[in-house]
Amino acid sequence: MIIDFHTHVFPDAIAQRTIAHLEEKGGMKAHAEGTLAGLKSSMKRAEIDYSVVLPVVTKPSQFESVNRYAAEINGKEGIFSFGGIHPDCEDIEGKLDTIKSLGLKGIKLHPDYQGTEFDDEKYFRILEGCKKRGLYVLTHAGFDPAYPSHTHLTPENAARVVKALHKGEEDPKPFLILAHLGSNDFADRSEEYLVGLPCYFDLAVILGKVPQDQLLRVIRAHGKDKILFATDSPWHSQSEDKAYFDALPLSGEEREAIAYKNGAAILGLPK
Ligand SMILES: [Zn+2]
Repeated sequence: MIIDFHTHVFPDAIAQRTIAHLEEKGGMKAHAEGTLAGLKSSMKRAEIDYSVVLPVVTKPSQFESVNRYAAEINGKEGIFSFGGIHPDCEDIEGKLDTIKSLGLKGIKLHPDYQGTEFDDEKYFRILEGCKKRGLYVLTHAGFDPAYPSHTHLTPENAARVVKALHKGEEDPKPFLILAHLGSNDFADRSEEYLVGLPCYFDLAVILGKVPQDQLLRVIRAHGKDKILFATDSPWHSQSEDKAYFDALPLSGEEREAIAYKNGAAILGLPK
């Protein structure tokens, strides 16, 4: 069994032009159409059992439509969707209640697309609100090719936030998931500042990019129970990333935890 914990789809009506826009903005090429049907056929090809879709609310006015769509596709035919919120939304507490009541397991944040430093008070309020409600938070972390001039989540500011969120706790329960092994393109600093902290890392986009010895070192130092298999489909190919993951010299226990068990516990799937 395998869960891809980091994927993107867009409603059919806007998928084509959104993918074209993002391809141009980030200088990337999509490996799937960016639709729900496209993700499902990619999962079939790659033999992936579940995918977690991560929508980004890029302006406060999108809150309703994004979360309505997330709730619509969540929990059906191998698809789970997180919700989304923007740090400039009004009534953050009420909006987090809405997300919780829609049955979504968590939210996605993207500090670059949301133009907010990750250690800003506005994010901290959202993070504390999610923690209180048992919602998970998955955030983009590190460099984003669409925003080359400034990175709003760095290993350094993320480390400060994680420590503040779990200050004084003896047995912290991680609920924050930092994408891209803690920080895309900053693996060395991620290893220096984030490894060992109570947060998850996903493997989106970094498979085949981070040197294999470093990847294995980070997995073992951070702990197999805080790593989630992920691709960032359509921006990476699920088939190629799964083949890369399958070929890694991991133990059976490590593989099982990263591919399925950790994600299943978050999503409430059977062990
Ligand atoms: Zn992504």
